[in-house]
Amino acid sequence: MSDKPINIIFLGPPGCGKGTQADVLDDKLGIVKLSTGDMLRAAVKAGTELGKKAAAIMERGDLVPDDLMVGLIADRITQPDCANGFILDGFPRTLPQAEALSKMLSDNGLEITKAIEFTVNDTILVERITGRFSCANCGAGYHDSFKPTTESGKCDECGHTEFTRRKDDNAETVTQRLKAYHDMTAPIIPYYQDKGLLVKIDGMRDIDEVSKELLAIFN
Ligand code: AMP
Repeated sequence: MSDKPINIIFLGPPGCGKGTQADVLDDKLGIVKLSTGDMLRAAVKAGTELGKKAAAIMERGDLVPDDLMVGLIADRITQPDCANGFILDGFPRTLPQAEALSKMLSDNGLEITKAIEFTVNDTILVERITGRFSCANCGAGYHDSFKPTTESGKCDECGHTEFTRRKDDNAETVTQRLKAYHDMTAPIIPYYQDKGLLVKIDGMRDIDEVSKELLAIFN
């Protein structure tokens, strides 16, 4: 691996595979996955001020205000574990967030290596999202139809028998999350295209095929 940090942005609608692929790159490239959705869910669970502000917004499928999100990421990317690089999964989601990210990176002598856009068809997203669940113990991800546990009701990774589903992974909220993506997030794609940083990836394929293509870009 080169000495230069690899800083990646993942763009794409909910359910396009960003989180799954960020886990793969985190594992294979040794760079940190920074999921703003995971950070917010942790804040909601812990009952912090941020969590209290975000909970109802997330349940509606709307976006949490930019100032809160920018503050969250600004604190995170300067932590020592980000020295080799990071994958931003779910940030930026608006043009002001994208602009604030560019500024905070240049203030810290950092830059974006690539912005990856996962292209997918909206109709498959609802099916992908509403069927997903994860192990309550180790967090391993599954899907009712596409990736069930090998043994019914038992996690393949740790053998635990309790599972959770995200509160916002229901049909109604997904529709609003997709709308938020098309209205607020898709317009930032040209921002990265103009900077020559955008790479489009076909997110409709198998998880392994997408991972292979991503690793070929960064290895
Ligand atoms: P995700 O796990 O990325 O699907 O995010 C779950 C929810 O967290 C979203 O539907 C938003 O309500 C909120 N969220 C996550 N990241 C952001 C962000 N960068 N800006 C605004 N809201 C966000």
